[in-house]
Amino acid sequence: MTDQILTNYPYRIELHSHTNPGSGCSSLKPEELVRLYAQKGYHGVVLTNHLEPDKLLFGKEEAVAMHIRDYVAAMDAAKRYNIAVYLGVELRFKENINDYLIYGVDEALLNVFYDYIPADLATFRKEVQLPNSVLLQAHPFRANMVLADPALLDGMECLNLHPRHNSAVGLATQYAYEKNLKIKIAGGDCHDRGDEGTAALRTKCLPKDSFEIAKILKSGDYVFEIGGNSLWLP
Ligand SMILES: [Zn+2]
Ligand SMILES: [Zn+2]
Repeated sequence: MTDQILTNYPYRIELHSHTNPGSGCSSLKPEELVRLYAQKGYHGVVLTNHLEPDKLLFGKEEAVAMHIRDYVAAMDAAKRYNIAVYLGVELRFKENINDYLIYGVDEALLNVFYDYIPADLATFRKEVQLPNSVLLQAHPFRANMVLADPALLDGMECLNLHPRHNSAVGLATQYAYEKNLKIKIAGGDCHDRGDEGTAALRTKCLPKDSFEIAKILKSGDYVFEIGGNSLWLP
């Protein structure tokens, strides 16, 4: 049974990762992140660098450019390592310290997202239509997070496997089922060397861009591989 599932979902993708300088909290240069995941046999990695109130200091143009520069550097490295790189974002609004992962992202959307950092999730969701993207609350049970209104979410990051944070993943998973959140994901939240490769999205086809990742997540047709050898079926 397990072997059959692994055969049906051969592609392994990291949904949550950070690089420096795009995310000041990460110690990994884009090319290093790509190399680490390629060495783990991954087929793709989504860069979900932070777009948060701290970035307001840089101004919009530079904040978005920082995000894109890491993505381009990772894409360049990815050609050498034969791995795909996707553009994502971990967005935070000024209202609290919640983080939201978004898949289905491009530069134009990053510019729109930036304008809403001083606002809040409810306003963002009311005013910004994202028909080809999905927005999930990241690690909702970490300390000082606030549970977002489920009606404003497409899903939740249930299993955040960052090794130096307690994300209460059992509670998060239970909550996501109770609230009937459609999309339930796992991610490594890789910031530093040694964090890589704890949770892979496994897909039937290799997505061609960030929007296809959103599409796959909406379709529900995927599994997660946890810790390198256990399967999780959301
Ligand atoms: Zn971080
Ligand atoms: Zn993160």
